[in-house]
Amino acid sequence: MPNIGRRTALRLVAGASLAAVGGLAVTAQPAQALQHLWGTCTRCRILWFTGNGTRGGCPAGDILDGGHHFLGIDWMLKTVDDGGAGQSGWQWCGYCQALWFTGNGTSGACPSHPNGHWPAGPSGGPSTVYILEDITNRDRPGGASGFRFCIKCNGLWDAVNNTLYTNNVCPLDRRPHTLWGSGNYVLRRFGSTR
Ligand SMILES: [Zn+2]
Ligand SMILES: [Zn+2]
Ligand SMILES: [Zn+2]
Repeated sequence: MPNIGRRTALRLVAGASLAAVGGLAVTAQPAQALQHLWGTCTRCRILWFTGNGTRGGCPAGDILDGGHHFLGIDWMLKTVDDGGAGQSGWQWCGYCQALWFTGNGTSGACPSHPNGHWPAGPSGGPSTVYILEDITNRDRPGGASGFRFCIKCNGLWDAVNNTLYTNNVCPLDRRPHTLWGSGNYVLRRFGSTR
């Protein structure tokens, strides 16, 4: 990065409104601008983008405004521009704010739209494409494993510290997500060097 510090780059991305809609905001940033403000929901356990001024839609019910609740840990995601190891094809859903996998040919189940997730916002703008590391395909040691793909809803959910895998809610059937067929994905905390 020639003339801009890494910390500054992160702040720029964080400050960009609708950063997850991203095409514009993210491609305008240096390639190293990992995007943070991703958090898991204490109720449905889905990973969702917390930086858009909306809590999206949560399948776990309608406490307060029906949106997700933030567990409090700020995770970073790599974009395709960042490159490196991992699986591409993950995008943001502009309806429910969740991260979801677009590579299975289905739109999964979205708590906020009957046709499933959509890789854009309701008023347009494509989602950034993200790359997720997993325990067999990662840039370096460290990070937190235990994040899983759910083949019922196509979302990424937090199975860390959730040993019975039941303390969560899938938008497909309001029952727990499944980790059937999933890799063991790795996320890194914002500000972490591991
Ligand atoms: Zn939720
Ligand atoms: Zn959705
Ligand atoms: Zn699910």
